[in-house]
Amino acid sequence: MLYEINEKALKLESEGKKIIRLNIGDPDLATPNEIIEAAYAAMKKGKTKYSSSYGELSLREKLAEIHGVSADNVVITAGSKWGIFATMYLMLRNGGNVIIPTPYWTAYELTAKTLGAQTKLLRTELDDKWRIDLDKLENLIDKETRMIILNNPNNPTSKVMDPDVLDGIVGIANRKGVTILSDEVYGTIAFVKTKSILEYGDNHILSNGFSKTFTMTGWRIGYIIANKEFVDQLTRLNQITINNVPVFTQEAALKALELQGQLSNAIKEEYQKRAKMASEILKTVLEFTEPEAPFYVFPRKRGLDSERFTLDLLDKGVAVAPGTAFGDYREHFRISLTAPRAEIEAGLDKICEALE
Ligand code: PMP
Repeated sequence: MLYEINEKALKLESEGKKIIRLNIGDPDLATPNEIIEAAYAAMKKGKTKYSSSYGELSLREKLAEIHGVSADNVVITAGSKWGIFATMYLMLRNGGNVIIPTPYWTAYELTAKTLGAQTKLLRTELDDKWRIDLDKLENLIDKETRMIILNNPNNPTSKVMDPDVLDGIVGIANRKGVTILSDEVYGTIAFVKTKSILEYGDNHILSNGFSKTFTMTGWRIGYIIANKEFVDQLTRLNQITINNVPVFTQEAALKALELQGQLSNAIKEEYQKRAKMASEILKTVLEFTEPEAPFYVFPRKRGLDSERFTLDLLDKGVAVAPGTAFGDYREHFRISLTAPRAEIEAGLDKICEALE
């Protein structure tokens, strides 16, 4: 359905219609110039060759310093998407099942299916403020369970996990010998503190990236932090697939980290303003938890068929994503706050009108 919406939006645009694009998580903001300059300087210095499949040591050391681990625990991946695919491949290629809380980022389930792994979906609800029920989680784990995927903060709800709940999940996973893959790609620019999986030692796996923190979606760079043995395995997979993320991209990412305070704070502030505005406009007509992280709102309207609604809304010039793209959430839809503020405001007004 996500693809159908996107295709229809493109078709309408090609017919000359203006579509306000609130359906995908690709930010309108430009990559900061300092990052672009660093890539250009690296290219001019000849950083255009094959390189280590672990990633550049300078970048791994910087990430290790930020996360309080050793460089041996860090491997650079082609976007966090590749890091997640590679991790799931390594853990699930010989069978087993994976527990995925819903609503989820669609790629987790699609990847599991591609690998022939069984998925066990763990439903969370708006009425529980999207909290994971620990008893339900424990009951889902069986002998074949290899991993639990957490997305903290979550896409599509923008909810940051309550530290007590996270403590409980890690406790269960440790007791049952199940590995957690924690996708924290929105964590650095969350509006509230996000407790990282790394705070629990190195038997779980962190996935993170630069796409959201620094508006670098097209650069394709991310990283995995795990124990050394897993990092070595993932590096071997890099060797036979991507080999390495371009070194000039890695140098640009290093510059981004050096300027992190200045660059990502500005990005975060802009998203915070957008989220506040969206909450104000939407709260009269829809139910939702206020975003604690950038990009998304995932509201509900009782009785709504969000697939029908999404297609009708597109005819009115606004693209959003139906809740069914994130699990069984027909009464919800996802709004991406990844357009200029004036456009978002116009889009939200049209959404409210359409719901009346
Ligand atoms: N995880 C989540 C939850 C995402 O929403 C996205 C992008 N939409 C990604 C990972 C992938 O990001 P990257 O550009 O680093 O591959």
